[in-house]
Amino acid sequence: MGLASNPVLLALTADGAQLAARIRNELGAGKVHGLAGRTSDCDETFTETDTHLRGLFRDGRPVIGICATGILIRTLAQELSDKRTEPPVIAVSPDGASIVPLLGGHHGANKLAGRIAKITGGTAAITTAGETLFGIALDEPPPGWTVGNPDAAKSVMAALLDGAAPCLVIEAGSADWLNDLPLDADGQWMVRVTDHAIEANPRELLLHPPTLAVGVGCERGCSKAELHELVARTISDAGLAPESVTAVVSIDVKVDEPAVHDIAQHWGVPARFFTAEQLEWETPRLANPSAIVFREVGAHGVAEAAALAAAGPEGVLIVPKQKSARATCAVARAPNIDPQAVGMARGHLSIVGTGPGDQAHRIPATDAAVAAASDLVGYALYLDLLGPAATGKTRHDFNLGAEEDRCRHALDLAAEGRNVALVSSGDPGVFAMAALVFELLDRADDPRWQRIAIDVHPGVSAMQLAAARAGAPLGHDFCAISLSDLLTPRETIDKRLRAVAEADFVVALYNPASKIRRRQIETARDMLLRHRPADTPVVVARNLARESESIEIVALADLRVETIDMLTVLIIGNAQSRALMHDGRAWTYTPRGYEKKSGPAGMRYSR
Ligand code: SAH
Repeated sequence: MGLASNPVLLALTADGAQLAARIRNELGAGKVHGLAGRTSDCDETFTETDTHLRGLFRDGRPVIGICATGILIRTLAQELSDKRTEPPVIAVSPDGASIVPLLGGHHGANKLAGRIAKITGGTAAITTAGETLFGIALDEPPPGWTVGNPDAAKSVMAALLDGAAPCLVIEAGSADWLNDLPLDADGQWMVRVTDHAIEANPRELLLHPPTLAVGVGCERGCSKAELHELVARTISDAGLAPESVTAVVSIDVKVDEPAVHDIAQHWGVPARFFTAEQLEWETPRLANPSAIVFREVGAHGVAEAAALAAAGPEGVLIVPKQKSARATCAVARAPNIDPQAVGMARGHLSIVGTGPGDQAHRIPATDAAVAAASDLVGYALYLDLLGPAATGKTRHDFNLGAEEDRCRHALDLAAEGRNVALVSSGDPGVFAMAALVFELLDRADDPRWQRIAIDVHPGVSAMQLAAARAGAPLGHDFCAISLSDLLTPRETIDKRLRAVAEADFVVALYNPASKIRRRQIETARDMLLRHRPADTPVVVARNLARESESIEIVALADLRVETIDMLTVLIIGNAQSRALMHDGRAWTYTPRGYEKKSGPAGMRYSR
């Protein structure tokens, strides 16, 4: 089978290379690629397993890894997108006993695994739902296709495996993937490709192709129920199969219309949008062109035009405009509609924070948002902190400082319909990008920005990890102050520090000192010392969750700027905060009650 020809047998050990060579020789095909230094006598060598494997996968080369499944899964996870174009990937245990087709089961991996199992005397672990016949799995059709009567799929497949040939009826759609199916015009079994909702007979397999685009228009604020009712009625009155609907489409001014997204979500298809200009191109094909609509939106139709625009030049309008009080709906058909390729999606901006450093302190919601994003915007170091999660994304690196440019760029990209993650460190809402995005939205009247879907995901802020590392210094009322005077006037910072001192808040200090801004931290210390004891514990946390992390607990009176830089966060206790030794090191906490502080006076808290 074409896709599985010329596989690469990937060997990471000497034994693995031997097994790989044996499989290659007996298959009579393929090349052994061995890890340099660990293997010998291979057809080719490589040094970086990750990079090499990803490269092979991207080039579409079938891969047989003589290694654990985990190695292949971890390395390729970021690369997975379209199962139609992915090459087969198989893991073979180094003893040859287990052969696991991981990807591309129906593109030759199952078959190849079977052949390897014969060579090694092992077992092929086939996990795909059905068997394939001539490379076709009727019960697992290509993306966009649906089996209308899944129960029948098994019996039809079984009959075909037994040698029966079905007759094929194609009422809609382009069914190229069925080309190799042996056919018999008088066969007792039938495969019917249709975008109509029909009752199938027991000897018939119904396949619904991705052929329909549902165009909708509605007044601003139209109820979800009204649009649902109209679309459902339109589809069912026309006798169409909902499974063949590929997209709900409309004009771009509706990109933030809740009812439109709701109906797309309900039908499990994407919502896509066209500009008025794109819709106006469809005017000659409209059944109901309207000068009134043109005056309102700049195109002679919305529902019909969007459906036709999605269906493309081969498309035809099969249900002209249907109306309810506040909404319209029309349906167009084309042989094969790929919804991701028509119009544009609603732009999405996820505002996320990486946590202070390593991945262990990043919340799963952030990982999910990053995984869903096509584009990452952020200071290069923060994007680097994402590690492999950033692989395969378009990166828009910015220098430190260019905050407004970063946010504008993220908004512009999202306005183009992209899925963007704007990445800060720590929590994105704590002295970071989230507030600036909302400030820009508040200031701007750019309607394209107004229509973007935005979500903000929290992150672990530096002060939270500093507090956790040191015990529980934030145990009572606290606040956070940034000492950076780039955006905040010195007087304001001083005023707040004075208030904090008087009110006896625990205080986390961000941006405590830079290369040039050195004096402020000592001014702050002196201001606080007027209201809290000299031995008030201070957590000095540098490079949290990064290499060379350091945590120190010192007495407030001993705080010196020499130990502090831009990658330090401080937590200064209140008058009740205490330090103690436990497990051979110092900790600090702030009690929630107001018992008199009774720690050993003058204790030094360094470790
Ligand atoms: N959004 C970030 C803060 C950005 S402001 C957050 O929620 O953590 C930058 C300041 O954060 C730095 O000057 C430092 O005070 C603090 N900071 C950020 N990451 C840190 C880390 N890994 N270790 C110590 N301090 C850190």
